[in-house]
Amino acid sequence: MNGNQRVCLIGAGPGGMSFLYQNEKLKAAGKKYADVVCYEKQSDWGGLWNYTWRTGVDEHGEFCHGGQYIDLWSNGPKECLEYPDYTFEDHFGKSIPCFPPRTVLFDYLQGRWNKYDLRKYVHFNTIVKHVTYNKTTDDFTVLTKDLVNDHDLPPEKFSHVIVATGHFSFPNVPYFEGIETFPGRVLHSHDFRQAREFKGKRILIVGSSYSAEDISMQCRKMGSDKVVISYRRKPMGFKFPDGITERPLLTKIDGNTIHFKDGTTAEVDAIILCTGYLYHFPYLSESLRLKTSLSVYPAGLYKGTLWMVDGNHKVFYLSMQDQYYSFTMFDVQAEWTCAVICGHKKLPDRKEMESDEAKWVKKREAVKDVYDDIALQTEFVCDLAREVGCKYNLDVKALFNKWENEKHVDIVTYRDQVYTSVFTGNPGITHHTPWFSAYDDSLETFVNQTCNK
Ligand code: FAD
Ligand code: NAP
Ligand code: MG
Repeated sequence: MNGNQRVCLIGAGPGGMSFLYQNEKLKAAGKKYADVVCYEKQSDWGGLWNYTWRTGVDEHGEFCHGGQYIDLWSNGPKECLEYPDYTFEDHFGKSIPCFPPRTVLFDYLQGRWNKYDLRKYVHFNTIVKHVTYNKTTDDFTVLTKDLVNDHDLPPEKFSHVIVATGHFSFPNVPYFEGIETFPGRVLHSHDFRQAREFKGKRILIVGSSYSAEDISMQCRKMGSDKVVISYRRKPMGFKFPDGITERPLLTKIDGNTIHFKDGTTAEVDAIILCTGYLYHFPYLSESLRLKTSLSVYPAGLYKGTLWMVDGNHKVFYLSMQDQYYSFTMFDVQAEWTCAVICGHKKLPDRKEMESDEAKWVKKREAVKDVYDDIALQTEFVCDLAREVGCKYNLDVKALFNKWENEKHVDIVTYRDQVYTSVFTGNPGITHHTPWFSAYDDSLETFVNQTCNK
């Protein structure tokens, strides 16, 4: 034993991998670091970026985590998520366009993880089944299972637990009258794997957020006949291309006929529920479970990260926010967590933590629109960066505001726009083909284009 804390890290997606990266950085600098055991139920790292064709359950009968589709492209500019200490230019050796397809982002992530050879810390095909906090010994007991051999592993003890299992996996599936007798396919966006399946079909999309927007556009791009989007609270209000329209919420389904609140009807062949996800942590004992709904500052977490309800300030949640910022936000949360666990950052007293958390929750309650959301998340990220003495300015609010504006200018062309990296000062290049007519999304084609600046 070297006296280090023994940390259980659950999940090897971008959030969990950031913790391993930050811990390795401490180790390389000769500073105190943690002994981390990372459990990952899938056979590879990457979380949602580890694409799977499977739906429902995985090869071991466990819940299938992945919910990305094969033709997914980044819905935000890469300049809004790039790591300051590992830019896209560092990885690819040149400028590339700003909205990469899935495989390009995954390649980029893996480049950073390989830099420190982090794979050795991950126990793949190993699912965490149960976590309890032991009051008397002030530690945690973790039960895991080797999925390949269908074998329960001996209980392990840890000083800290980090939950990095994401919150965009367990589908939120509402019921609509008549849906059980709809004669076509009904699926949640979690099970959507490729838009080509819906070529020539009339589609109903339920929801009015990112999945609704992108899956509608994908389906139309790949040749769906028409798409009707049904919103609960308010329409997205984009100038959608021909063949995509928005209607208020459906009231009932009668055969292929969908009835909407405004009295109109539509005939459809398939229904895709883009109705979001549940915060669901079935493997945590109840007092450790974050129970919340999507927001930029979920309650119960000091600095959006440290679980306040139980576990004696030794349970951390990464990336539980609604995500404008993503990879950089997870990274600074991970750096902060690492600093706290390893003793480089002292926590204030309980009262101060409570009032700090309450202050952020109050700010979140005052948010009025997406621009406020972006501003608040920027403040959150910069606050954590200050806490850890981060030497980079992680503020990309101006880029997010430009992105949000571009979407409202034209939802068809927003992915064709160019952004400038705040870390390299260089703009991305113009994509060779407008996104709406770009069918080749291979990494090779994307990275090897040499279009004008
Ligand atoms: P995840 O990526 O979900 O990883 C969690 C990991 O935990 C998984 O590997 C899972 O297998 C593992 N795990 C779960 N339960 C257990 C268990 N009991 N035991 C062991 N391991 C377990 N973000 C962007 O920035 N840009 C995008 O373009 C973008 N597109 C997206 C598209 C879709 C359809 C979705 C759903 C999300 C998208 N996101 C995007 C947001 C996404 O949440 C983040 O990019 C990122 O994947 C979150 O990382 P994470 O590590 O928190 O969670
Ligand atoms: P989300 O942002 O949580 O949105 C859920 C939507 O479902 C909301 O519009 C909500 O409506 C609606 N909804 C919930 N319950 C409903 C009900 N009972 N009836 C009708 N509508 C209901 O989830 P998401 O859109 O799936 O996005 C999740 C994440 O995936 C985001 O981070 C997003 O960026 C990411 N993503 C990225 C891409 C990409 O292109 N790279 C594509 C898809 C998703 P209200 O607004 O009325 O609450
Ligand atoms: Mg993770």
